[in-house]
Amino acid sequence: MINLKSLMTTQIIVRHAEYIVNISEIEKKLKKLSSEFTSRVTKEYLSEMCENIGVKSEEDLLEGLFIFIKKLIKEIKSLKKMVKMNQLSFNSDTDNIFIAPPHKLYERVIEIENNYGIATNVIIYDHKKKIKNSFSKLLLDAFGYNKFSQKGNDVIKYIELLTKLKSPNSSFYKVYNKSILINKICNEIRRYNKISDELKFVNEELICEIQKVNKKLKADIINDVVEIIQNSYEQCKCTFNNAFLTTDTYSEFNKGKKNSKWNAYTLVMSLGIKSCPYCNRQYITPVYREEGCGVRADLDHFYPKSRYPYLSMSLYNLIPCCKFCNSIKGDKEFNYKSYLHPYEHGFEDYLKFRYKPIKYLFTGSSKDEFKIVLESSEEIDEKKELVKKAENNMEFFMIEPLYYYHKDEVMDLIKKRLIYNKAYCDELKHRLEETTGKPITEKQLIEFIVSNIIDEDKLYERTLSKLYKDIVDQLGFFKEDDDFKMTENECGALKKLLINLNSSVDLI
Ligand SMILES: [Zn+2]
Repeated sequence: MINLKSLMTTQIIVRHAEYIVNISEIEKKLKKLSSEFTSRVTKEYLSEMCENIGVKSEEDLLEGLFIFIKKLIKEIKSLKKMVKMNQLSFNSDTDNIFIAPPHKLYERVIEIENNYGIATNVIIYDHKKKIKNSFSKLLLDAFGYNKFSQKGNDVIKYIELLTKLKSPNSSFYKVYNKSILINKICNEIRRYNKISDELKFVNEELICEIQKVNKKLKADIINDVVEIIQNSYEQCKCTFNNAFLTTDTYSEFNKGKKNSKWNAYTLVMSLGIKSCPYCNRQYITPVYREEGCGVRADLDHFYPKSRYPYLSMSLYNLIPCCKFCNSIKGDKEFNYKSYLHPYEHGFEDYLKFRYKPIKYLFTGSSKDEFKIVLESSEEIDEKKELVKKAENNMEFFMIEPLYYYHKDEVMDLIKKRLIYNKAYCDELKHRLEETTGKPITEKQLIEFIVSNIIDEDKLYERTLSKLYKDIVDQLGFFKEDDDFKMTENECGALKKLLINLNSSVDLI
């Protein structure tokens, strides 16, 4: 688990807040939800809810829900004021749910759950029963996370379809019957008519053109269709300029393309995170593609959006992470009280990776004879709560069993520790300083030797950096061999192990 605190900037907070108040239309949608709620859920839903959460009448239930919606609208209004008055900063301790830092957001969740009992109980019931047309679902729709995440963006999907169709090798064209092919394509395109008025206009023209090809009675129609779609794609590019994202990487993005549209991609881009904060095993760097089929980190909702739909667009609730960790997390209950929040903490000193030979069984012939464990901090008293949280994170994300696969890396570090003794390190430092013309710190030299980051503040830049940092620390680089931080027995066992692995290296 890696700390992301230093990645949050005022600019990100401002952009997110501006998106919420100016673009997302959450306020408008919440107002609409208030007026249309009864027509959007069934009678049975309302009576089932009254019965199950113990509310006397339907009126009481609706009142409870509407008061909550009003509260959320107020939240947007107060954010609007903050945006207008330029009061946003990454170190401000605001408690607005959209931009509140983790500890403040936690206080707000408690306050909301205490004061809005009816809405909270309804949301909990919806979550447990996974009800489709429910209050939670409608609230989630109003907050518009799908649009923000671009996954539900119709224009992007439409562009993806055109991209597929404008290639003559596309699997679409594997149907040989001309009429079936034309129908199939037209049906695919027509699906987007229903979604948006803008697309309807573009589509009608496209469908008309394609149908003309059908009338031509030509045997080979694919090239004609591809040409029409290519034209439409170009036209689409002008119409939906915003949706066409340019190929981009962190460095290009940060060079000045800051006026691009705010969405999940631009959020991940702006943070500049490289490895998954939960596991630190996978790279999660994004790439933009013009066709809208770029790749980015998953955005995990620290508080799951199905259980806390009103936090689905809260900035500090959006954690870029890898697919593994996101799938482990799913919509399981997760909260600030029991787990570390990556915008506040990493494992840091609370938990450290340690290499542990399995004593007595140790024959030195296999790496199965040692294990990698996470040990909690020795001076735990004042940090007890954080250590407990760290252990919960470790268990939840299955860190120890997953790191079982990284013994090779630990073996390499041990080898390096044994080979790079004090004299060799001094020589290397001297050579590096001579080559670069700059003084090299001890930390930089170790990073050079182990090919990873061991700087506590930059662990998010590489994978396995926390493992490397802790094992390097355990092995005690730059110390005379006598100072080897393991017991003599372990040290001897290590050397034996290495000799067995590589008999050509004379270590003793
Ligand atoms: Zn991960």
